[in-house]
Amino acid sequence: MDFNLPKGLVDYLVELDRFIETEIKPLEEQDDNIRFFDHRREHARTDWDRGGLPRHEWEDLLRQARRKADAAGHFRFALAKELGGSARDVGCGSNLAMAVIREHLAAKGLGLHNDLQNEHSIVGNSVGALLMWNYGTDAQKAEWMDDLAAGRRGFAFGITEPKHGSDATHMETVARRDGDGWVIDGEKTWNTGVHAASHDMIMARTSGKAGDGDGITAFLVPIKSPGFTIEEYLWTFNMPSDHAHITLKEVRVPGSAVFGGEGRGLQVVQHFFNENRIRQAASSLGAAQFCINESVAYANVRAPFGKRLSSNQAIQFPLVELQTQCEMIRALIHKTAWQMDTIGNFAVSDKVSMCNYWANRLCCEAADRAMQVHGGLGYSRHKPFEHIYRHHRRYRITEGSEEIQMRRVAGYMFGFMGQRAPKGVQE
Ligand SMILES: Cc1cc2nc3c(=O)[nH]c(=O)nc-3n(C[C@H](O)[C@H](O)[C@H](O)COP(=O)(O)OP(=O)(O)OC[C@H]3O[C@@H](n4cnc5c(N)ncnc54)[C@H](O)[C@@H]3O)c2cc1C
Repeated sequence: MDFNLPKGLVDYLVELDRFIETEIKPLEEQDDNIRFFDHRREHARTDWDRGGLPRHEWEDLLRQARRKADAAGHFRFALAKELGGSARDVGCGSNLAMAVIREHLAAKGLGLHNDLQNEHSIVGNSVGALLMWNYGTDAQKAEWMDDLAAGRRGFAFGITEPKHGSDATHMETVARRDGDGWVIDGEKTWNTGVHAASHDMIMARTSGKAGDGDGITAFLVPIKSPGFTIEEYLWTFNMPSDHAHITLKEVRVPGSAVFGGEGRGLQVVQHFFNENRIRQAASSLGAAQFCINESVAYANVRAPFGKRLSSNQAIQFPLVELQTQCEMIRALIHKTAWQMDTIGNFAVSDKVSMCNYWANRLCCEAADRAMQVHGGLGYSRHKPFEHIYRHHRRYRITEGSEEIQMRRVAGYMFGFMGQRAPKGVQE
């Protein structure tokens, strides 16, 4: 057994650090772009006059960084070789490589290199591109693949409904055949990124009954389709918001809009979840480690009562406990990502869930502790902990909530799950 990371991957982290210093930091520092990351960040990012959507200047800056990263060969890292991906050149599979990279980038704190609030990163977490590569038809790939790979275009994702989130298989949105095409009726909410997307990937029941894993179909629906209405954007704990509540009234799409096969939409969702959950866990671990590192550094210099804060065990011990948890979850994340790469993406879904809910919770606890160690300054926006807390608090609900992931682990433990892979997945 060898716990060392492949040398190629370790070297790649050094290369990424160099790229950040030479290409990304200067962009972050020019034209007062630092306003998007310092104490002004929430206001700088949020266009209050456009209903709380992200400001154009903010999204333009992210696009500039993505272009630089793509030109330098980093942005497509996780994609297939044919699309310019280089993950396999670093000596391990892409799940392990991406987990290590996302932890590394998040551990640097807030910055233009990796902004988790909207999944921006110099090493793209291009889930849309991965799905298109795995499930798109030839015609869909011809239309989308280049733009998705370069991060120039994306689609939103609509599974959740106002009455069905965790129980998404009970969705009420339906699609019925109409000649060569389909007609969709229903309602979706929390569809992230609708404001900037040309299409929303809508999950609709096309056969079977409420609760069935099969019989849900994914459709790539143009947002401009007659009958597709954006009702509102929901404001959240961490603004800006691009999370739309939409309705679909007799929305007509051609047969070519079906994505991943008729009735097979849940497989697409589960694929998305599995890969994203392990990466999200790694990001949360990195952000937790950042909070701990900053707290240790601060406790070593702050000296109330004339002695270093760090000399108090009441300061040391909570940080020791958090560090212990980081070490444990790091080992589980690495092992789980390695297993996904070696024995199959869906083979260890219970472990993916363990990594995800634990790391997300750990990050919230680390951010909370960092605020405490930093006192009043920790509570201010001049430190990033409040932002980190608010963002990672979201992860405990959105990627399948904590309880739903524990439910999956319980399914394996207590034998309620009849198959190795999650519901709706054919391996
Ligand atoms: C910021 C944000 C972005 C999002 N982006 C998207 C997106 O792009 N596309 C999309 O489709 N959806 C998106 N979502 C929706 C997200 O996936 C759902 O919020 C999530 O699945 C939970 O569903 P719910 O909110 O309906 O909660 P509910 O399902 O109503 O659950 C409420 C609470 O009860 C718990 N619970 C439910 N069932 C059980 C059970 N059996 N046992 C124990 N506890 C249970 C849940 O864990 C939760 O804590 C987003 C949500 C947010 C907040």
